[in-house]
Amino acid sequence: MIQLIRGFKDILPGEVEVWQHIESVARGLFEDFGFKEIRIPIMERTELFARSIGEDTDIVEKEMYTFPDRKGDLITLRPEATASICRSYIQHKMYAEDPVQKFYTIGPMFRRERPQKGRYRQFYQINAEIFGVASPLADVELIFLLKTLCERLSAGDVEAHINSLGCPECRPVFKTALQEYIASRTEALCSDCARRKDRNPLRVLDCKVPGCREAMQKAPSIIDHLCPACTQHFNTVQASLASLEVPFIVDKRLVRGLDYYTRTTFEIQTRSLGAQSAVAGGGRYDGLVKMLGGPDMPATGFAIGFDRLAEVVDLDKQAYIKKPDLALGIDGIQASMDFEGRSLKSQMKRAGRCGARYTLIVGEDERATGQAILRNMTTREQVSVPLAELVKNIKPLIKK
Ligand code: AMP
Repeated sequence: MIQLIRGFKDILPGEVEVWQHIESVARGLFEDFGFKEIRIPIMERTELFARSIGEDTDIVEKEMYTFPDRKGDLITLRPEATASICRSYIQHKMYAEDPVQKFYTIGPMFRRERPQKGRYRQFYQINAEIFGVASPLADVELIFLLKTLCERLSAGDVEAHINSLGCPECRPVFKTALQEYIASRTEALCSDCARRKDRNPLRVLDCKVPGCREAMQKAPSIIDHLCPACTQHFNTVQASLASLEVPFIVDKRLVRGLDYYTRTTFEIQTRSLGAQSAVAGGGRYDGLVKMLGGPDMPATGFAIGFDRLAEVVDLDKQAYIKKPDLALGIDGIQASMDFEGRSLKSQMKRAGRCGARYTLIVGEDERATGQAILRNMTTREQVSVPLAELVKNIKPLIKK
């Protein structure tokens, strides 16, 4: 038997209803916040991801599904959505009409990571991006939206971890201070960190290897190196989150290694998720649109791990599973019909198994008399209903 690919998964009926529920709540919320949906391709030129995510990252170094197409062009299954959304914003010159654009998209991403619980090779994300707004309030809006989404989905208490990465003015000073600190502890680092410490010292800060964590405990904090403009930006983020009653902690380990990431960076954790507690990650990338050939345009965004969110709301799964109201196909009433002409008894059994609240029995006798039988599957009570104008007659009887 052919099995699915390792790290990939089927989302089966029973679970799909939870996914649909999340999707519809998310769409409703995005619309309330003025975001428009954008749909971007599953594949892009490899170069787009290599340039935007960075050659020196785990994703580009070892996790992308990249292959030459039949003409030899290198293409990649998208590992994330931001790069494609930026490409689209630039390619269609959307900034010319209005530099401020707010987008969301929902769909699968592909990374060849080591599979484990909460970590897949095809996983789904809900992405949001705001272009053209330099104000810290755009970052706050994104974090507030995430908190509201988790609340509407009863996805547990959330906490925002936030940090600032500074800007091209103040970050180089911090990088130098960090490199000096790292140089005094090189022997304690894992082999990955030893390799990337010179090119990308910020990556050493968020390495999960216990030895590296220990070694970096007393590392300098970027907050102490921010220029006045970045300090003010970060203070506004914190004050606004506090006034919106969004719980947050400043987490100096939260970094991204690439130069186009600027200022606010954040991660949303929920207490219901266990080890893989990050349900979403995001932040500002004021330098990316320009780096990809567009105008100098600020931007900020996030990616929610859909699979992880689904695991959290999974607790109330039963509440979202739609059960047919009636075991027959009728307009305006959720119904399913037996097509196999089995005995009445086995049809009843099936109707019971699929969770139908009522069954409508229409056999030879019923057709002759013009009266069908409506059976309540819980109380087993039966009543006659005229077949003429059946829907109109049934609706008041099966009202919840
Ligand atoms: P990232 O794009 O790496 O910042 O990830 C954003 C969010 O996507 C994370 O917080 C996770 O919830 C989710 N995520 C990332 N990688 C995976 C994966 N391999 N499997 C499932 N969810 C993932």
